[in-house]
Amino acid sequence: PVRTRFAPSPTGYLHVGGARTALFSWAFARHFGGTFVLRIEDTDLERSTPEAVQAILDGMSWLNLQHDEGPYYQMKRMDRYREVLAKMLEEGTAYHCYCSPEEVEAMRERQRAAGEKPRYDGTWRPEPGKTLPAIPADRQPVIRFKNPLDGEVTWNDVVKGTITISNRELDDLVIARPDGTPTYNFCVAVDDSDMKITHVIRGDDHVNNTPRQINILNALGAPLPFYGHVPMILGTDGQKLSKRRDAVSVMDYLDKGYLPEALLNYLARLGWSHGDDEVFSMEQMISWFDLTHLSSSAAQFNPEKLAWLNNHYIKAADNQRLAQLVKVDLAKLGVSAEQGPDLAAVIGLLKERANTTVELAQAATLFYRQPAPEAALLEQHLTEAIKPALAEFTEACAQVEWNKAAISAAMKAVLAKHGLKMPQLAMPLRLLLTGQLQTPSIDAVIELFGRECVLERLR
Ligand code: GLU
Repeated sequence: PVRTRFAPSPTGYLHVGGARTALFSWAFARHFGGTFVLRIEDTDLERSTPEAVQAILDGMSWLNLQHDEGPYYQMKRMDRYREVLAKMLEEGTAYHCYCSPEEVEAMRERQRAAGEKPRYDGTWRPEPGKTLPAIPADRQPVIRFKNPLDGEVTWNDVVKGTITISNRELDDLVIARPDGTPTYNFCVAVDDSDMKITHVIRGDDHVNNTPRQINILNALGAPLPFYGHVPMILGTDGQKLSKRRDAVSVMDYLDKGYLPEALLNYLARLGWSHGDDEVFSMEQMISWFDLTHLSSSAAQFNPEKLAWLNNHYIKAADNQRLAQLVKVDLAKLGVSAEQGPDLAAVIGLLKERANTTVELAQAATLFYRQPAPEAALLEQHLTEAIKPALAEFTEACAQVEWNKAAISAAMKAVLAKHGLKMPQLAMPLRLLLTGQLQTPSIDAVIELFGRECVLERLR
């Protein structure tokens, strides 16, 4: 059975790169009816915070990327890591090293001076027939992994193809610190083994860790998962996505008025493809998703395309659901939709042209603010010549059947009678009703405001 995992380090927020690898892992598990595991890699005590854990959970839940197992927390698995360390010491796949940090640094200095690549020289590595140095008093050892000296590590990366690293490039990694706490690559290997992960999909900033993790898994006698390293996401300027220039936190997109299905659809296409399909649902993605169509070149973040997709999903979304989101955005603008036209109906009129719910809210304000037309504009558009026609139309509004078609017909009758053109009546109507010259089609606006409000404002 397929088992994938998302293993974020809780040091900030859920960023779009993380969300994308989570989406790939999730879709792959769903495609095969497998299990998607969430694992929080919180062993970096200085950088991990409970707020960051919550931010990740919030982001995942907003995107509706539900995990089937977990969240597991590495900090809660310390006993298990100690158990594995003890077993490795016993089996001889790991050993105590009593070099002090100063000695290791001096070793590196010597190697650099000799023009060699710095690596642990194996002082404390046990070998048959070798006598180890005397154990220094009062020194807590680290535990090092006994990496194979020769040969190479090869894996067939599902994104990048075959990757081969010589074991000579890898020295004996510290897997536990002097205080006994396990280190990063060791924890990942133990977890992937214990959690029976079959496919590791992650960012390619981890490629260098993979041969180390493979060697540790081999030493544990654990089966190897498949690995797929997806390229990073580039910002609009072709550089690495940056916190300063680009919106990188998933939850920023909620604040900016994006729908989760739009962001998911966008992230799916960022590094994965299904023919020329640009717009698809998560059900479709699940049924189509495979690892063979993951791209091996970096994808560039394109805000316009995301906005276009968001507009598509806004148009497709239920107006009541949008109303709940727009209410929040309106509140941020200091506007309440409690009084006035039905917000869902207003949204129905405006959503064609809105890229975000924030834009929807901005456009919707004209229905919920008292109109305050500029005097100069009124003077220009509400001329003496227009006033009789406007008065007549106002009276027609008191009688007319209240729907767009009937309102429009009443307007046309007044225009014909007075020999006027549509804008001559529409502009003053817009000003009086909304205070603005730019609104959606005036008959629709009138219908939404309702008879009572229209009569009050026109009279
Ligand atoms: N915790 C790592 C990170 O957030 C991911 C490790 C992994 O996927 O193996 O970058």
